[in-house]
Amino acid sequence: QIAASFTKRQFPLARFSGDSAAPGIPHFDVVVIGGGHAGTEAAAAAARCGSRTLLLTHRVDTIGQMSCNPSFGGIGKGHLMREVDALDGLCSRICDQSGVHYKVLNRRKGPAVWGLRAQIDRKLYKQNMQKEILNTPLLTVQEGAVEDLILAEPEPGHTGKCRVRGVVLVDGSKVYADSVILTTGTFLRGMIVIGLEMHPAGRLGDQPSIGLAQTLEKLGFVVGRLKTGTPPRIAKESINFSILNKQTPDNPPIPFSFINETVWIKPEDQLPCYLTHTNPRVDEIVLENLHLNSHVKETTRGPRYCPSIESKVLRFPNRVHQVWLEPEGVDSDLIYPQGLSVTLPAELQEKMITCIRGLEKAKMIQPGYGVQYDYLDPRQITPSLETHLVQRLFFAGQINGTTGYEEAAAQGVIAGINASLRVRHKPPFVVSRTEGYIGVLIDDLTTLGTNEPYRMFTSRAEFRLSLRPDNADSRLTFRGYNEAGCVSQQRYERASWMKSSIQECISMLKSIEFSSSKWKKLIPEASISTDKSVPVRALDVLKYEEVDMELLAKAIPEPLKKYTECRELAERLKIEATYESVLFHQQQEIKNIQRDEALQLPKDLDYLTLRGVSLSSEVREKLHFSRPQTIGAASRIPGVTPAAVINLLRFVRTAQ
Ligand code: FAD
Repeated sequence: QIAASFTKRQFPLARFSGDSAAPGIPHFDVVVIGGGHAGTEAAAAAARCGSRTLLLTHRVDTIGQMSCNPSFGGIGKGHLMREVDALDGLCSRICDQSGVHYKVLNRRKGPAVWGLRAQIDRKLYKQNMQKEILNTPLLTVQEGAVEDLILAEPEPGHTGKCRVRGVVLVDGSKVYADSVILTTGTFLRGMIVIGLEMHPAGRLGDQPSIGLAQTLEKLGFVVGRLKTGTPPRIAKESINFSILNKQTPDNPPIPFSFINETVWIKPEDQLPCYLTHTNPRVDEIVLENLHLNSHVKETTRGPRYCPSIESKVLRFPNRVHQVWLEPEGVDSDLIYPQGLSVTLPAELQEKMITCIRGLEKAKMIQPGYGVQYDYLDPRQITPSLETHLVQRLFFAGQINGTTGYEEAAAQGVIAGINASLRVRHKPPFVVSRTEGYIGVLIDDLTTLGTNEPYRMFTSRAEFRLSLRPDNADSRLTFRGYNEAGCVSQQRYERASWMKSSIQECISMLKSIEFSSSKWKKLIPEASISTDKSVPVRALDVLKYEEVDMELLAKAIPEPLKKYTECRELAERLKIEATYESVLFHQQQEIKNIQRDEALQLPKDLDYLTLRGVSLSSEVREKLHFSRPQTIGAASRIPGVTPAAVINLLRFVRTAQ
């Protein structure tokens, strides 16, 4: 059905007549290359912003494919998903239509660092994503491999040695575009590895992208090499679950999307996960066979936070490692052994699996494998994800050195918005690190670069108490609606209602005051301190761990009862109360940072020859390469000294 609708939708907007140089050649506002997690978000965001958009990808039937783990979210990653959703992105809504096991991680810690996470039915995710993408207004989807870029003279007033004008496909056909977004994941010179065997592929069963990698190198982009890997898949019926620890999901499940109150699956129908562990025999098999494992011998950097079993055995000898057995879907016969990513020859992988408890009779259906690929040093892009070198060319996703669906999706939505704004000559949409994890991710990439696959953690953010998963809409939805036009009216109205309800209720809670003895009578469950001399605000009572809005509203039904009718609102009020005093101090620090961020550095500064500023040649080179856009960003580049920042600051102030 999907394939049929795809065929019908080929190039409906192809009859573009505005390009006198090449009449008949299709022309779009934005062309996105790659239908992975970055590409789908980028294409949908550009279309939501009103741009006629073309998504060009190798195969339509792999749009929305989860190349590795059958899960979304987690610590830090769940925050990114909420922010993507706040900008009306797709992945959170699609996860709510496809999840099979929802579990909030870090529950014992404060809500600022809770990690929303779910096991996802791979097949459903792909189906739902394809349905969404193929039905997005202004978005056309076309199968094809892009080999080259069409370039033109640069636009005056912008940096960059040329401007992208379109793409050339493998069959030689051309498509013109005003902005192009590259989201090619692990496909640039991708090479798959199992044991000593290596063959070119973007991922198992898919061709790599070679022509495009060569084009980028020829243009002068600095290219690096990274690697990652995936575990084998095991037949479900061959596992002895009865002797393993079972993990039950949350009941009720917490949806990823702000606009969903529930998820598609009934709480009782969710699927369990099971936990098992490696043992010394696994270590022996890995160590005895290192000579048969070229991926491990390679010096390219792999994911530190999602390492292969080989690197865990080598880095932490004699330790037992967790292996989570995760369902791949409601009607899937496969289990994904998370923690067992491996590139040993296939027969040794099976030998290793069967010495693990519960897997003694396990049948391996698909071996694990590694992939090595080119990525582009992300210091070559601006915070809007446009490249410094080629105007109107944007990069998003794994191509920028990140790993993970959520990191890819977050960049995709920002690239899509900015590619579209660029076409309309509007200012870029940049999320600062004081506003969101998306800002932290992009600022880290563009100022620090990365030499290993980058993934998000809450520890990367300085303002964790402000950048919470629960309030991503109040941080980003209004900006998305007003500045980018990427947010629907329905979402905007819901976020507005939520924001005004929170403000209204918090000021009410500040104004309700009783003596502590009266509070003790009203809420005997709460351990309110008995200092009778000072009246206690209802907001302070809500800060007690054992008090929630429900309990407070039972004590004072009028005017509080109505704020308990929406579960999400009641929970958010409790969180706001908990963090009230610390947030006040954090807001001051945020203001200081925002002041530095407001000090823009001229885009066309030539740091290598700049006169009148005292900068060492090392600092000049670093600034020249990263081209920071603000004093704040310059100060975060490693090697740019505080003295250099002060000199730059003086320069900017006198230039203003
Ligand atoms: P992808 O999802 O890879 O999508 C790229 C898309 O671009 C594909 O649709 C492809 O067909 C298309 N494309 C490429 N070149 C062209 C071209 N020239 N023309 C047209 N279309 C093109 N993440 C983790 O968090 N942890 C892990 O352990 C992990 N392990 C992984 C193991 C493997 C083997 C692989 C392949 C990925 C792994 N990932 C892991 C990464 C995760 O899958 C990616 O981070 C995420 O999918 C990146 O999204 P993306 O959109 O950037 O790229």
